[in-house]
Amino acid sequence: MDSQDFREAAATAIDDIASYYDNLDDRNVVSTVEPGYLRKLLPSEAPVEGEAWTDIHKDIEGKILPGITHWQHPGFHAFFPCATSFPSILGELYSAALSGACFNWICSPAVTELETIVLDWLAKILGLPECYLSTGPTRGGGVIQGSASEAVLTAMVAARDKYLRETVPLEQFPEGSEAREDAIAHKRSKMVALATTATHSSTKKASIILGVRFHTIAVHADTGYSLTGPVLAKTLAELRARGLEPFFMTATMGTTDTCAVDDFAGIVSTLKSDPVHPAGTPGELWVHIDAAYAGSALVLPSVREQVSISLIENFHSFDMNMHKWLLTNFDASCLFVRDRNWFIQALTINQAVYGNKASEGGLVTDYREWQIPLGRRFRSLKIWFVLRNYGVKGLQSYISRTLKLGEEFADSLKSRPDLFEILTGPNFALTVFRVAGKEQGKSDEELNALTKAVCEKINASGRMWVTSTVLDGRFAIRMVTSVSTTEKEHVDRAWKILVEAAEEIVKA
Ligand code: PLP
Repeated sequence: MDSQDFREAAATAIDDIASYYDNLDDRNVVSTVEPGYLRKLLPSEAPVEGEAWTDIHKDIEGKILPGITHWQHPGFHAFFPCATSFPSILGELYSAALSGACFNWICSPAVTELETIVLDWLAKILGLPECYLSTGPTRGGGVIQGSASEAVLTAMVAARDKYLRETVPLEQFPEGSEAREDAIAHKRSKMVALATTATHSSTKKASIILGVRFHTIAVHADTGYSLTGPVLAKTLAELRARGLEPFFMTATMGTTDTCAVDDFAGIVSTLKSDPVHPAGTPGELWVHIDAAYAGSALVLPSVREQVSISLIENFHSFDMNMHKWLLTNFDASCLFVRDRNWFIQALTINQAVYGNKASEGGLVTDYREWQIPLGRRFRSLKIWFVLRNYGVKGLQSYISRTLKLGEEFADSLKSRPDLFEILTGPNFALTVFRVAGKEQGKSDEELNALTKAVCEKINASGRMWVTSTVLDGRFAIRMVTSVSTTEKEHVDRAWKILVEAAEEIVKA
């Protein structure tokens, strides 16, 4: 393909993409193909001779789109959304054209510098405390990671390194000595990372990858599935009584099941008065805030107040996925740290081949020292395009609109107490509910079966897709209204499908 062929092929591709969006609502939300469908349609070997774009192009509609579940469909109410927008797609296009493995500043200064600038913009748009800015008092800053899972792993590596540095004293165990190796190995066997039963599984996965212990704190409906200060204090005391050393905890803004927010004020107060390693002293607990989905709502000042976001100046790292709810396509997980040295000390390994004058001069950021992989894509471009094209006001009005849709859907549920019971929400455009019937004496088992049947029936309509969860043994449907193409008419349609299904199943 030469540049002229590319011009023509790209024009057809862009035209396809625009039409795909124009007609998205005509498609089924979820793919209906059978497992292994594609193997039957494709040859078993790659072509020996190159094929023309026209041949490749027709297989998009004929072979690939049938196997696509449409995450941008207005009837997609499942999981959390996976956002995108036209300016973001354009950013991806340029990024692919300028492809490089931009791990050091000199590998493309614009890639590094734009990332630092747009993440400072984003930190300000979200109202994060100044310490998370690259220009802040503690030399913090942001870095784009591939996913929230990668972000929590990066934070946990840095936390482990910081804890060992602070609790295995160099005076007693000199650098390079065998005594130090032994002391570190012993301590590592006692270190434990914490999360709650509502925390996303990525924290447990990070602990498995790092080979550290993992402890889950149970949270229930009585606290709205959020972690409180007293529960944390009790957990720390119990773990220490067993000889363990808590070093890391994920607290969440917007848990996956219900969008609960952990009690930041309670956590801060517990950690400040911690009897063993009070906050701000060597060995303090590293607190990572996972705001993968709900963090986007911080564009609204009212949400910042509601969750007391200013308190995260007491914590260590904060991560949110623009690719969930802020109009930027996968991958754009924005990880902020209060002191960039925590990453750099843990993740810098020098190899002669990567040496260069700029890095050695110490005047530049080399993002390879803030992440697990070496190479990195030009991801800041799409964020830059989105922030410029929507502006702060555009982002705020989009988030407000989707929150309002969530509230309206919850109001509809409340208007039919004979059919539905809300278990949580609406929180950040997510409402979790089940079929009503407790007052008529139905057991949880009966309600679970009815709710599951309703869930399956509405999904079978092809017009909408919801996913489910189980809260304290209660099967529940999660309804999310934050996909950018979803309008009031689509939520009204979903409501109608839901009522019809529930009436039929409950009466049967
Ligand atoms: N944290 C929360 C609260 C989530 O809901 C999710 C996924 O939905 C994740 C982390 C993991 O996200 P990622 O796919 O970016 O690793």
